[in-house]
Amino acid sequence: MEGTDRKRSSRDVQRVPVLLPYPFPGPFDYRVPPGLSPAPGDVVLVPLNRREEVGVVWDAPADAGVPDGKLKPVAGVVDTPPMRPALRQFVDWVAGYTLSPPGEVMAMALRVLAPRAARPAAGWRRADPLPALRITAARRRVLDALAEQEPRSTADLARAAGVGVGVVRGLADAGLLVPAALPVVAPFAIPDPEHPGEILAPDQATAAAALRAAVAARTFSVTLLDGVTGSGKTETYLEAVAECLRQGRQALVLLPEIALSSQWLERFERRFGVPPAVWHSDLTSRVRRVTWRAVAEGAAPVVVGARSALFLPFPDLGLVVIDEEHETAFKQEEGVVYHARDMAVVRARFCSAPAVLVSATPSLETLANVEAGRYRRVTLPMRHGGAVLPSVAAIDMRATPPERGRFLAPPLVAAVRETLARGEQAMLFLNRRGYAPLTLCRHCGHRMQCPNCTAWLVEHRARRALQCHHCGHAVPIPDECPACAAAASLVPVGPGVERITEEAAALFPEARRLVMASDTLPGPDAAAAAAHAIEARAVDLIVGTQIVAKGWHFPHLTLVGVVDADLGLAGGDLRAAERTVQLLHQVAGRAGRAEAPGRVLLQTFSPEHPVMQALVEGDLAAFMAREAAQRRPGHWPPYGRLAALIVSADTAAAADALARDLGRAAPWGDGVEVLGPAPAPLSVLRGRHRRRLLLKTRRDVAVQPILREWLGKVPVARGARVEVDVDPVSFL
Ligand code: ADP
Ligand code: ZN
Repeated sequence: MEGTDRKRSSRDVQRVPVLLPYPFPGPFDYRVPPGLSPAPGDVVLVPLNRREEVGVVWDAPADAGVPDGKLKPVAGVVDTPPMRPALRQFVDWVAGYTLSPPGEVMAMALRVLAPRAARPAAGWRRADPLPALRITAARRRVLDALAEQEPRSTADLARAAGVGVGVVRGLADAGLLVPAALPVVAPFAIPDPEHPGEILAPDQATAAAALRAAVAARTFSVTLLDGVTGSGKTETYLEAVAECLRQGRQALVLLPEIALSSQWLERFERRFGVPPAVWHSDLTSRVRRVTWRAVAEGAAPVVVGARSALFLPFPDLGLVVIDEEHETAFKQEEGVVYHARDMAVVRARFCSAPAVLVSATPSLETLANVEAGRYRRVTLPMRHGGAVLPSVAAIDMRATPPERGRFLAPPLVAAVRETLARGEQAMLFLNRRGYAPLTLCRHCGHRMQCPNCTAWLVEHRARRALQCHHCGHAVPIPDECPACAAAASLVPVGPGVERITEEAAALFPEARRLVMASDTLPGPDAAAAAAHAIEARAVDLIVGTQIVAKGWHFPHLTLVGVVDADLGLAGGDLRAAERTVQLLHQVAGRAGRAEAPGRVLLQTFSPEHPVMQALVEGDLAAFMAREAAQRRPGHWPPYGRLAALIVSADTAAAADALARDLGRAAPWGDGVEVLGPAPAPLSVLRGRHRRRLLLKTRRDVAVQPILREWLGKVPVARGARVEVDVDPVSFL
């Protein structure tokens, strides 16, 4: 082999750049062996460090420094649809914008294709003939779910039949089910755009027509669909999805928290007769592979997903919808740090497709783009079906404080009591998980702190544990103070949802309570079950964290009490006020969505604060105008650009040294400014010491070249790291 290689003249050696799913600076060249002719986008197998890896033939020429004779050969072309130019362009663009290695971005598009061949997965078919056995109703439902004769997996069958997986296994043991290989391409049902949907109200019809026209134009555009909570935005943008289906193109809908989307999925199914394909990180690897393949082959016309769905291989994407566009959950904070809302707009541009941003509380970024004429806007000013917006009032916690050791003020307690007495539902909102955010020793004052992070340990009483919400570190609640050894001296300080639930149980013992928090509703099924219980009025009082704010429609919920409206205002980050208004307005928007009017009470120590005033008056536009006026002069986003450098190291000294070096090498110039270095608010996280620097520029300055040059000047010692966060959302 070696010998024949050497005899060939270098003119015969054909090279091809291959991008591998690793954080290398760019693609590597490989030799094309005779008989293969890989083209850009082809998925190929190549040798890398004695292993075989999957990569993609890239467009950009690789570093040609490796002589022909040293090149390793491409091992083969994988039988899978090639990565389209629009997706390759998107990968390169995201890498350039976020200063990430392109391979790391490409990995998100390729993650499902492990080098080992996809094993045909096991499923079940009905035994034929069926043994003559008595069959329970639950078993009957499983067999009915298999009526179409397509094999289905255990989990899928159990879900479809509404039974536990044990029932499916029992059927198999009894010989009523026989093993069968699952199809490689999922039989995704095709949504029918002409399936009869709801009759749109006139406002909705006007807005839907504008969105349909944008889809039919088959060109890039961005439209903000902005409508008050309960105005029927979903129904409206589903008409854009319908138009996209008529155009024969694929549609992507991004939701901030797909695990909480059961009501959304039901609504989609009502509109189109079948469910969409779903994409998020909790899918089994088999479902992922099947879905990925179906998307690549155009067999999944509509995908609803979390931010990672942006990297799916759509051959002909014709619409991208970003629902709740203001949500910070769209920002990915780990690995490739990117904002899915902004990247969705870029993805749409490369696909010549419209993007639709949807929110009742649009971000200032999006509003500024509307104002500058870059984005269009369609508005739904009224709640659907004549429902009115809830009335919002502040409870001054100084004037009417709760009883000692309690957190619910008398006016809120009275309002909950009245609501429950009327047979309506009430919700108490507190954006804090667990029982208490701080535990201290009443003897010596010692505070229970995470050993790995600059953070207090949060008590989770149900689990009898103290837990760090940053690194997950958990310890049993100690019997005595670890500092002074006083017995039974540790006391909880402040409330979390568990503690509010305890207080509610004492105040309203007859009310059926439900806690909605990410740790009490793990996964989509639990969230769906909770939603059904609320809809079926099997619950009277809901106590929840921010997950209750997310798009739910609960017709019998008429009172929302915000336990600590001031909570999000502490910390002083750039968007603290904006985010508080958005979150509380969204929570408030859960109330009074049907005939009975809704009421919202905000417990606050500063009812005169502009945030509380904006919520009470319901004048979000005025509030956002005020925010804009505050950010414009100092060139703060969206009227300027920010990029954060987060330095971390094993020791404080190493972190300081690197931060200082970066500070000394800081760029300067017209419209360019560097703030810091300063200790990060989370100055220790998972045992790493952290420092921050913030590059702030005018809007017309591109930050990426500045960052590249800056980072290129400062060597990073072993054990230290600099993470780049372009357009930071979190300042921790
Ligand atoms: P938003 O997303 O704007 O808060 P939703 O889309 O949740 O509002 O709509 C509120 C409620 O009104 C939902 O239950 C929805 O199904 C219903 N709805 C919206 N539009 C219509 C319509 N045209 N006909 C019947 N029901 C509708
Ligand atoms: Zn921690």
